[in-house]
Amino acid sequence: MKIIVAGGDGFCGWPTALYLSKQGHDVAIIDNMIRRKWDNELHSNSITPIATLEERVAKWKELTGNEIRTYDGDLTHYDFLREVLKKEQPDAFAHFAEQRSAPYSMIDREHAVFTQNNNVTGTLNVLYGIKEIVPDCHLIKLGTMGEYGTPNIEIEEGYIEIEHKGRKDVLPFPKQPGSFYHLSKVHDSHNITFACKIWGIRATDLNQGVVYGLDTDETQMDPVLSNRLDYDGVFGTALNRFIIQSTIGHDITVYGKGGQTRGFLNIRDTVRCIEIAANNPADRGEFRVFNQFTEEFSVLDLAKKVEKVAQEEGLETTIAHLENPRVELEEHFFHAENTKLRDLGLEPNLLTDDVIRGILKTVVNHKERIIKENVLPQVSWK
Ligand code: NAD
Repeated sequence: MKIIVAGGDGFCGWPTALYLSKQGHDVAIIDNMIRRKWDNELHSNSITPIATLEERVAKWKELTGNEIRTYDGDLTHYDFLREVLKKEQPDAFAHFAEQRSAPYSMIDREHAVFTQNNNVTGTLNVLYGIKEIVPDCHLIKLGTMGEYGTPNIEIEEGYIEIEHKGRKDVLPFPKQPGSFYHLSKVHDSHNITFACKIWGIRATDLNQGVVYGLDTDETQMDPVLSNRLDYDGVFGTALNRFIIQSTIGHDITVYGKGGQTRGFLNIRDTVRCIEIAANNPADRGEFRVFNQFTEEFSVLDLAKKVEKVAQEEGLETTIAHLENPRVELEEHFFHAENTKLRDLGLEPNLLTDDVIRGILKTVVNHKERIIKENVLPQVSWK
């Protein structure tokens, strides 16, 4: 299958491009390298040293003989995107290429506007590009579980049957996002739903949970193939950030009470979920939604798991409850369906102490690269 991985230089996209290439797919990456520029803007870095995209794909070719073509450009530039689609004629378009940090989108007006322009315009261009150039191409779009918020009922996979005043219908599950970033994802989902309906596009929206881990079998083949690992208060995600805090003797910073519960998955499952979606395309005109996570944890559960492993490894660390910079419920019901990917063959890599220990050991190896001032949250929702 010919697959474009947009955002293929990023944390989820890079290991996915390698994994799909390893499975024998013909892969091309689109990325405008903006994630690397945000590191400069935030005076931050990946804990793992990361090679340039050119070095990465050259090493991959040297090790496997497989070529991954790269296109350095921006999805918000339609002329660029159209040329790539014409040249590549992809069967599937895996779309990771968005600004994905909730805190980044909440810095100020400019960052909120940028996030929504970048994400919504980019996705709209992809929809028009598919319609115009490759109408049979399957759009595999990374959404987020954060689109649903935390309703006091079980979250379904995309749709819910509602009976109202004696009539019944299957309707999109209500969305209650918690940041301008999450809102951009909801806007994307609406645009994709509409495009499927009017143009018969085939699309899968993957409402992904929080991703932890960094390695896959492919990224471990050589240091040049290493994945990025974020830890700062803006781009670091919960479990990864806690592990990193524990290795530098910093408190594990839980925002508020820590009862905030979310869906989580290992990066190894992210890459597999994309393959499953690609191998089982949505029908023409279908807007299909999968909830892409494997386990649910509260933030405090995660902090306790990390604290235990860190202490076993001889690291001194304790849990600290910080004033919550976000506006969110700190104690709430949370349960979501996630059977569709499993029914198609996903076998989850669960969060064990050994998985935490593995990430922790990688972090310890690169400890000197951590910029300590960056681990605390600096962006407030208010
Ligand atoms: P990332 O920032 O590491 O990677 C995104 C990549 O997209 C970067 O390499 C960036 O340069 C590129 N990009 C951004 N805007 C672009 C544009 N306009 N044109 C071309 N390239 C552009 O993010 P990630 O963690 O790999 O996340 C990938 C996707 O998965 C995002 O859509 C995100 O919302 C979604 N997601 C991630 C997580 C997570 O925990 N990391 C959880 C849920 C959903």
